[in-house]
Amino acid sequence: NKEWPRPPKCRVITIANQKGGVGKTTTSVNLAASLALHGARVLVVDLDPQGNASTALGVEHRADVPSIYDVLIEDKPLADIVVPAPDIPGLYCAPANLNLAGAEIELVSKVARESRLRRALDAYDTSQFDYVLIDCPPSLGLLTVNALVGGDELLIPIQCEYYALEGLGQLIRTVDLVKAHLNPGLNVSTILLTMYDARTRLAAQVAEDVRNHFGDIVLNTVIPRSVRVSEAPSYGQSVITYDPGSSGALAYSEAASEMAHRGAAK
Ligand code: ADP
Ligand code: MG
Repeated sequence: NKEWPRPPKCRVITIANQKGGVGKTTTSVNLAASLALHGARVLVVDLDPQGNASTALGVEHRADVPSIYDVLIEDKPLADIVVPAPDIPGLYCAPANLNLAGAEIELVSKVARESRLRRALDAYDTSQFDYVLIDCPPSLGLLTVNALVGGDELLIPIQCEYYALEGLGQLIRTVDLVKAHLNPGLNVSTILLTMYDARTRLAAQVAEDVRNHFGDIVLNTVIPRSVRVSEAPSYGQSVITYDPGSSGALAYSEAASEMAHRGAAK
């Protein structure tokens, strides 16, 4: 694999959309795998109690495994929970498990409840990575807010279907509040169109609407709907390693290449 340009300093990229099933986790895992296979050092922070990103990276996340819950709630250092993903050199994961489901409530009474992930990242040597990708749960609760406060960039995956744009206003309003009060540097840098079905006119229409509305932060690469993408997690793999020649793997690799070559430009 050819090496891609690496950023001058670690890019912390939050992957959020409060809708479930739009491809947040799939995007986190496959971009991370692609970047790592092209020479970057990448950490995936799993911030969803479902632990789907941990599963897809083949990382252990039983209830007794040290996890991001311990970091957010018990002040455990990130260094104590980060583990290498088994298949890909340079790829690491901060796993999540079901304990995290309680964190949404437990955070409410914590000091600096919105900034706990940011503080953990600041206390950690993120310079050992080129990218930190934060996979969010499907809500705009305190976990996602922590991810928005902890990140420098926001990547929004948008599924090419009818209701795709409906929740985006609410997400952008949350981002604006976070920028105004908690993280002025947050940059909505990237939009990725996911699960594109080339057979439907609707998908093309949604893609066009998104491009008209958001302009060139939308990556040129579109991720097609592909069964291989949905099969990969059950083997504890990204589609990049599970079936490197599949349309989904090629698209995610192309999207990651665009991100690496564009940098974080506004
Ligand atoms: P989210 O994290 O936003 O809830 P996921 O990444 O878990 O969404 O994706 C939701 C479901 O759709 C999963 O079962 C996943 O395997 C599947 N999926 C995601 N992207 C694709 C794709 N490009 N083609 C086919 N299935 C996909
Ligand atoms: Mg998910």
